[in-house]
Amino acid sequence: MTATPIATGSRPNLLDLSLAECEALVVGLGVKAFHGRNLFKWIHKHGVTDLDAMTDLSKTLREGLRETVEIRLPRLAAAHPSADGTIKWIFELHDGQRIETVFIPEGRRRTICVSSQVGCALECAFCATARQGFNRNLTVGEIIGQVWHAARQLDKPPTNIVMMGMGEPLANFEAVVKAMDIMQDDLAYMLAKQRVTLSTSGIVPNIYRLREVSDVSLAVSLHAPNDALRDQLVPINRKYPLAELLPACKAYVANDKRRKVTWEYVMLDGVNDSLAHAKQLIRLLEGVPSKLNLIPFNPFTGSDFGTSPPERIEAFRVRLTRAGIFAMTRRTRGDEVAAACGQLVGRVEDRTRRLGPVRIETGRRIAS
Ligand code: SAH
Repeated sequence: MTATPIATGSRPNLLDLSLAECEALVVGLGVKAFHGRNLFKWIHKHGVTDLDAMTDLSKTLREGLRETVEIRLPRLAAAHPSADGTIKWIFELHDGQRIETVFIPEGRRRTICVSSQVGCALECAFCATARQGFNRNLTVGEIIGQVWHAARQLDKPPTNIVMMGMGEPLANFEAVVKAMDIMQDDLAYMLAKQRVTLSTSGIVPNIYRLREVSDVSLAVSLHAPNDALRDQLVPINRKYPLAELLPACKAYVANDKRRKVTWEYVMLDGVNDSLAHAKQLIRLLEGVPSKLNLIPFNPFTGSDFGTSPPERIEAFRVRLTRAGIFAMTRRTRGDEVAAACGQLVGRVEDRTRRLGPVRIETGRRIAS
């Protein structure tokens, strides 16, 4: 495990800065903008966090930087490798909260599952993260810091990023978008837009907002084919029902014929997994370019649900496929180290009870 500098001061964190902000920073310190590009590249492409090792930056610039900013990364607290190659990393943040990040190798794919919040405020009925409560949004540096560490830990760079770890990424809009821009930057992690996927439970106004500023792939946690059931499983549906969610997702992929919405559908025994549900789903998705990921439910201590038997999942999948919807069953990965979908818990000091209902900034209006 590499030693990680963990500064605790209150100076701006270089990990929070976009390329343009790095350029502006060095211009403010009296040198040309391209030195900012070099600085950004040192940190993200080469993984260097010691200013003295950034040999092509002048001594005066390095001194200027040392006086004005710092480099603050999450601390890698533990790594839990699983027999299937999955690794769960636990990161400790400066305030003692802990978040989890997962590496999932699959053939040539090396996917990093990244967290966007400490805990989650959305209370989906079948998710372990929801049980932890919510503490706060992650900063840009804490989000991209997970990718920074992953890139250093692995012998080959990651090929895909999924914003599917702890938290609801669209409830931390600005920081998530900025971090996803850094993931795609050629001077940083060089990931093509189709290789960065944001997964949301369906915060409709922010799906429209995302379309304005980003073109990453969109995954949506659907889990039910009608409002009555989805209201129970994914309570944000009461605020943004299917009649609003579907048009937003359709609009997101509208300007590129090759794009599809990825729908995630957790298979809960006897709850949402019948052929009648499959039929409803086919009707619901009519006219929306779609692919479906069926996720066998991953149990956790205290959960009230069971996993659908494999033959029922397969019957559901075949029914969808026959209707022309590409559907695949996600293989459960990393469950022996509690790294599978919905099992990430970190260490979260729940503040929701103290702070009252969590408000989600949607840019246009406040959704409480
Ligand atoms: N909040 C975002 C990001 C989390 S992604 C979202 O809801 O999309 C994690 C995915 O795993 C989501 O589709 C989530 O619904 C699913 N999930 C949560 N708990 C699960 C569990 N116990 N078993 C299987 N999948 C689960």
